[in-house]
Amino acid sequence: MKADLVFINGEVVTVDHRNRVVEGVAIKDNRIIAVGSNTEVQQFSSTDTVIIDLGGKSLLPGFIDAHLHLTIYGTNLLGVSCIEPHIQSLEDIFIDLRKKVQQTPKGQWVRAWGFNELKLKENRYPTKEELDEISTDHPIVIIRTCNHSSIANRKALEIANITQNSSNPEGGILERNQDGSLTGKLIENAHMNFFEYASYNQEELRAGMKLASEKFIEAGLTSIHDAGAYGEGSETLRIMQQAINSNEIQVRVYAIVGSLTNSHEFVHKMLEAGPITGLGDDRFRIGPAKVFADGSSVGPTIATREPYSHTSNDYGIIYYNQDELNRILGDAHKKGFQITAHAQGDRAVEMLLDCIEKALIEHPRENHRHRIEHGGIAPLDLQKRIKDLGVVIVPNPVFMYVNGDKYREYYGDRVDVMYPARDYIDQGIIAAFGSDAPITFLNPLLGIHAAVNRKSLTGQSVGANQCIGILEAIRAYTWNGAYASFEENSKGSIEVGKLADFVVLNDSILKVDKEKIKDVKVELTMVDGKVLYDSKNLMKRFEKMRTLNL
Ligand SMILES: [Zn+2]
Repeated sequence: MKADLVFINGEVVTVDHRNRVVEGVAIKDNRIIAVGSNTEVQQFSSTDTVIIDLGGKSLLPGFIDAHLHLTIYGTNLLGVSCIEPHIQSLEDIFIDLRKKVQQTPKGQWVRAWGFNELKLKENRYPTKEELDEISTDHPIVIIRTCNHSSIANRKALEIANITQNSSNPEGGILERNQDGSLTGKLIENAHMNFFEYASYNQEELRAGMKLASEKFIEAGLTSIHDAGAYGEGSETLRIMQQAINSNEIQVRVYAIVGSLTNSHEFVHKMLEAGPITGLGDDRFRIGPAKVFADGSSVGPTIATREPYSHTSNDYGIIYYNQDELNRILGDAHKKGFQITAHAQGDRAVEMLLDCIEKALIEHPRENHRHRIEHGGIAPLDLQKRIKDLGVVIVPNPVFMYVNGDKYREYYGDRVDVMYPARDYIDQGIIAAFGSDAPITFLNPLLGIHAAVNRKSLTGQSVGANQCIGILEAIRAYTWNGAYASFEENSKGSIEVGKLADFVVLNDSILKVDKEKIKDVKVELTMVDGKVLYDSKNLMKRFEKMRTLNL
């Protein structure tokens, strides 16, 4: 067999079971046919083979982000971004909102995302009245960076049927002024429910998904686990599948069956419909059934066993009681689903473990790979249970970088067991990293950086005991992600027979100063043997030859 393409003189981080680092890799069509030294892989070249000299740069398996929100990430790109560097004050946001209002037909939604009052000069939310000044003809909503609260103008509340007389939904708050009038701020379930009304139409969803996929490919992601969107989940799944068929989405998608607004209804619907985890192909597959067990780590609203450190008697929010959780996820397990929940605080993680344990006792199943999304606070006793139950955890080390200082304030010394990657590896637990984008940054190299360095944005050490090695962090962002979706036999490492999903970096990731990992850039992304991103035109010749051969 002759290769279409051979990479030589690289730092090929294979992530195989021996963690081999080799010089080259050869591919034919969409598969890897050789991995090894320059001589070993060049044996597969013919006169038609394109040979790429990597000049010592790293070639890694394509990154797998085991938890992010494709649709929200994409549709955000259609709205006003509050995370741009020029956003320093509320007025800066208002300027961008006014521009958006001018471009948007009356009656249609104007949305802003990534809002964080702590990063603004005024250090507060805007008021409903300030938003009304921007427009009363357009419903306007500003979504907080945590996606657990938002602020809406009068028109938006009107559309969502939220009035003076509305009562707080279960697990949520419609914030009020002292005189009882609505402030427009929507918290937790009040915010979640609101998105039934502030949802996107089909064209917007498709456009957003395409934008998201482009950004993912640029970041070096070749597979993602989609953790759900707002609103009607089955519609999102259907549109996502269409977008994949039409190549608007080019990353591989493992679609977690979950919705931010009505997770248990969606799970219930899917259970009725029939398809279970694993249905699909290499590009699109049905993932686990997921519900929300608790709140946000920066709200902070996560459910903890001990009260928060910065305030007395606050243990966070729990979405379901144990019986409800057991029933919803227990049903899904019984029907053959992989199951998971957003569980951030140790109390929520414990509830989820109780639920998984009970499900497995009642209906034993080998190789279930049930998951925990986030598992923010996971002390030793919970780690032991994760290991014993064979649960896969999906932590977000990048949160330590972005939120580390806040975590220290909210959770005190518990930061030492937050997203505890070192402990997981030592215990033999499979931890697949996720960014939770757009909640935080997408860049997998930043995620790896955060796991290796465990320092916050301001340089403070946050749980240095949980630092891991670079190879360990790469594995968590590749092979472990493949394992979490039952796909480690076809991807996640550079081995003969596996799919040709790669990234080439602009440097040697094993030699770069570990404090600078986040500055390493992706130069090339290949999915299924196709070059989808090539910032340095490394592959121009290869692409030309392929077209000639066709
Ligand atoms: Zn998430």
